[in-house]
Amino acid sequence: MELPFAESWKIKMVEPIHKSTREQREQWLKDAHYNVFQLPAVQVYIDLITDSGTGAMSDRQWAGMMLGDESYAGATSFFKLKDTITRLTGFEYVIPTHQGRAAENVLFSYLVHEGDIVPGNSHFDTTKGHIEARHATAWDITVDEARDTQLEIPFKGNADPRKLEAVLAEHADRVPFILVTITNNTAGGQPVSMQNLREVRAIADRYGKRVLFDSARFAENAYFIKTREAGYADKTIKEIAREMFSYADGMTMSAKKDAIVNMGGFIATRHRDWYEGAKGFCVQYEGYLTYGGMNGRDMNALAIGLNENTEFDNLDTRIRQVAYLGHRLDEFGIPYQRPAGGHAIFIDATKVLTHVPKEEFPAQTLTVELYLEAGIRGCEIGYILADRDPVTRENRFGGLDLLRLAIPRRVYTNNHMDVVAVALKNVFDRREQITHGVRITWEAPIMRHFTVQLERV
Ligand SMILES: *Cc1c(COP(=O)(O)O)cnc(C)c1O
Repeated sequence: MELPFAESWKIKMVEPIHKSTREQREQWLKDAHYNVFQLPAVQVYIDLITDSGTGAMSDRQWAGMMLGDESYAGATSFFKLKDTITRLTGFEYVIPTHQGRAAENVLFSYLVHEGDIVPGNSHFDTTKGHIEARHATAWDITVDEARDTQLEIPFKGNADPRKLEAVLAEHADRVPFILVTITNNTAGGQPVSMQNLREVRAIADRYGKRVLFDSARFAENAYFIKTREAGYADKTIKEIAREMFSYADGMTMSAKKDAIVNMGGFIATRHRDWYEGAKGFCVQYEGYLTYGGMNGRDMNALAIGLNENTEFDNLDTRIRQVAYLGHRLDEFGIPYQRPAGGHAIFIDATKVLTHVPKEEFPAQTLTVELYLEAGIRGCEIGYILADRDPVTRENRFGGLDLLRLAIPRRVYTNNHMDVVAVALKNVFDRREQITHGVRITWEAPIMRHFTVQLERV
C-alpha cells in the first residue's frame, strides 16, 4: 500500500487558539461594523484573512535571528541576503525594503511618471495604487480565461500576448516597463507558465522594453511550472526559479509571502541604472542601502526563508494543503475559483448567495456568515474591495465577487481545513434562506475595505 502524504516538517512550538460562542461572535461582529478587519484577532478561531506575514518561521530562521548583525552600514546580514538573492535569481543589485509595497514605492519613484502606462497581468492593489498615485495607468493584460471561475486550465494567471502587443503597438513610448505578477494573486493565486514568461520577454525585446516581476509568490509559481508544464518535472524549484528570472530585468518582492518572514521585502535587478536610480529613494523612504527598513536579524531570517521555500518538499506540503481544502469543498459542491491556486481558495460568492443582490455585497455577506458560523475569518475580494469608480463614484460591480480563504504557511493542520470546509458547508446548506446582505454606513474614499462600516439589511 502506498504511504499517505504528510507534512515535510514537525511542530516544535505551538500557540493556543480559542473557540467562541455564536452569541459572542454576533456581538463582536456588530461592534466591528460587520467588517472582519476590525475584529481583534483574539476573537478569531481560524484566521484566513491573509497569508501575508502570517507564516511560521522554521528553527533555522529563528537561529538566524540570533546571529543578526545590527551594524548600521555593511552588516553581514545584508551580504548574506544579497548573496542568497543573487544565487536564486541571477540579479546582482539588491535593495532591501521593509515590505513589498515599499519596494514598489522606491523603484516606481524612479521609473513611473505622470502619463505612463504599465501593462500587467492583474496588478496587485498596492502596485496599482503606486502607479495610479503617480497619475499613470495600470493597464490589465490578463488572459480572459481568468474571469471564468469554473474553467479548469493550468496557467490561468498568464498575460495575454495579444493584449500586450496591442498596448505596445499604440503606446510604446508611454510604457516604462512591463509588469508580470507571479503568481497572479488577484486572479486567484493562479500561476504564469514559463512559456508565457518567454513570450512576454520576446515581445518586450521587440519593443526595447524591460520586464519587472512582482514576485511575492514566485516559489509557488515555480512549483506549478514543475508540476504542470511539460519539460520541467525533473528540474529543481531553484533551477526553475533561476530560469523564470532569466526572462526579467528586475523584481520587487514582498518577503511576507514566499520568504516566510513576518515582515520584509526587497528590489533586485541586473541593471546598474535601475539600481542607481532607485537607491536615493531607498535612503529617503526606507533607510540606508544595506538595511532599507529591516533589522539585521530579519534579513538573516529572510535569506534562510528564501532558501527553504525554494525546496520542493516545503512547497509540496503547502500547495497540497490548499488543494486539500479545495477537495473538501468539492465534496460539498461549493463553487470556487478553479483550479485551486497557490495560497488561497476563492469562493465564488455570487454563485453561493444567489438571493443576495449585488448591491448588498454577496462576498462580504458570506464573509460575515462564515465568521458567525465558526469564528473563521476570511477576506472579501470583491465589490467592496473594488472601490467606487473615481469619476462616476458608482460601485464597481464589473469584476468577480469572491470570499478569499488565504492559508498561512506552516500554521494550520488539515484538521483546521476540515473545520473550515464543514463550516462553509453549513452556510452553503442554508444559502436559500440568506436573502439579505449588508449595506455601507461609512466608507473611506479609497481602499475602503479596511475601514468600511456596514450594517445588515
Ligand atoms: C503582498 C503583495 C504586494 C505588497 O506587499 P506588502 O509586503 O504587503 O507590502 C505586492 N504584490 C503582490 C503580488 C503581493 O501579493
